[in-house]
Amino acid sequence: MSHADAGPDDDHPHEECGVIGVWNVADAAALTALGLHALQHRGQEATGIVTFDGARFHSHRGLGLVGDNFSDARVIARLPGTRAIGHNRYATTGETILRNVQPLFADFEFGGLAVGHNGNLTNAQALRRALVRRGCLFQSTTDSEVFIHLIAISLYSSITDRLIDALKQVSGAYSLVALSDQALYGVRDPLGVRPLILGRIGGGPGGWVLASETCALEIVGAEFVRDIEPGEIVVINDAGVHSIKPFSRQNSRFCVFEYIYFARPDSVMDGMAVYEARKRIGAELARESRVPADVIVPVPDSGVPAAMGYALESGIEFELGIIRNHYIGRTFIEPTDQIRNLGVKLKHSANRGVLAGKRVVLVDDSIVRGTTSRKIVEMVRAAGAAEVHMRISSPPTTHSCFYGIDTPERDQLLAAHHDLAQMTELIGADSLAFISLDGLYRALGKPGRDPASPAYCDACFTGSYPIALSDHDAAPERQLSLLASAP
Ligand code: SF4
Repeated sequence: MSHADAGPDDDHPHEECGVIGVWNVADAAALTALGLHALQHRGQEATGIVTFDGARFHSHRGLGLVGDNFSDARVIARLPGTRAIGHNRYATTGETILRNVQPLFADFEFGGLAVGHNGNLTNAQALRRALVRRGCLFQSTTDSEVFIHLIAISLYSSITDRLIDALKQVSGAYSLVALSDQALYGVRDPLGVRPLILGRIGGGPGGWVLASETCALEIVGAEFVRDIEPGEIVVINDAGVHSIKPFSRQNSRFCVFEYIYFARPDSVMDGMAVYEARKRIGAELARESRVPADVIVPVPDSGVPAAMGYALESGIEFELGIIRNHYIGRTFIEPTDQIRNLGVKLKHSANRGVLAGKRVVLVDDSIVRGTTSRKIVEMVRAAGAAEVHMRISSPPTTHSCFYGIDTPERDQLLAAHHDLAQMTELIGADSLAFISLDGLYRALGKPGRDPASPAYCDACFTGSYPIALSDHDAAPERQLSLLASAP
C-alpha cells in the first residue's frame, strides 16, 4: 500500500508530519518546496513555508499537496530570503483548517519565530489548559502552538534558553524546526522517537539543511552529515552548527514503524538504509513462517521490499501479482458508498496471469483494521489463486500510537481483539503470519528485543509506552481503557 493512498479506505497508520529547514542558500523557498515534495508521504493534508530575508519574515501556507501550493513561481517569488523552514501536515490534532497549518509564526519581544513540528505532545492538553488560565490566547487547535506560548512566557532572555525552557515542560515524541531572525533551530525529543537529520548544502561555506528524512537531501543536492541525536538541540547560524544537550541522557527509542512502513525506502534512518531493513525484515519473516508456495506477491507499494526479502530467502519466485493504479485520488473514491466499497479495486487490480492456479504468498507491511487485507485476499482468490497465504512484516498492531502517528482507537484494531485463527478467518486467507517482535529486532541488527531496555519504541505492538501518556491518563475513561489493554 502506498502512503499516497491515504484516505478513508487506506488501512494503514499514517505519518503525521514532515519538516525541513534550510540556512544560507539561494532560493531557500524553492529548495524547501522541493524538500517538502520529497517528504510528501509524511503528510498530505496541508503544507507551508516561512522564509526570512534578513529583515522580514514571509509565509505561505495552504491546504493540499506541496505541488498544489508551491509549483507556481509567483508564490515562490513572494518568499524571498536565504533561510526557510517548511512543514507537511497530516492532521490528527485539530481540524485541517488554515490556522492549524504550520509553520506557525509569532512575533515575540525578541522578534519573530516560526515553528514547524512533527510528532505529538502527550501533555499538550494539560499545558494548554494551564496556559489559557494564565491568559494565553490560542489561535489554533493544534498542540504545536503550545511551544509558541511556552516560549513567549519564558522568563529567560535568549531565544535558545527560552526554547530549552519550553522543551523541558513538554513531554512527547517530536522533531521540531524553528527559524528566528538570528538562527535556524532543530530539536529531537529526548528519546529520539521521531527522526531529524542534518545535511550540508551548496558549494560555499555555511549552507545547512535539517529534514525529517535523508530523501529530502537528495532532491535539493545536499549531503548527509549526521542524525540529530535524541534530546539534542542544534543552533545553526553564521558561526556554524552549535549543539546543546539539555536533557539527561537516556537510551533512545526510535519509532520502529519508520523502518517497517513510514519512511521512504530510499531514506537512511539512524544509520540504516530503510530499503535494506525492509528486505531483511522480509527475509526474517520467511525464516519464521515459510509455507510451500509457487509465488511471492507484494501488496504494492510499501510491501515490495519485504516481499523481495521473503522471496530471496525462500527461493520462491517474486512476481507483481497485484498492480497498483497510481492515478486514483481520494476525491474520486469518496463520493458514494457504492464507489467507496469498490475502493480497493480502483487502487489495485489482480494480475491474473501471475495468480491463476498458484499457491500465493501475499506480503504486506501491517494490518490495522483488516478491511483492506480482506479485500485483497478476496481479489487474489477471484483471480484464480489456488491458495492465499498472508505474511505481514510487522508484529500484530494491538495498541494505538500516541506519539504522532495516526492509528485508529484500540477497539478498531483487528489484532487487539482477535487471535491469529480469528484474524485468518476474518481476512479469508489460508494462513496468516506476522513477524515476531524478536524477529523484527533481529532483522534490524539486534539480538532480539531486550524487554528491560528495548532499542526502539514498539508500543503499538507491545503496549509498552516509553513516554508517559499524561493527557490520556488524566481522563478516567481513557485510563481505564489503557489499563485494560496492558499486555
Ligand atoms: S507507538 Fe508505534 S507508531 Fe507510535 S512511535 Fe511507537 S512504534 Fe512508532
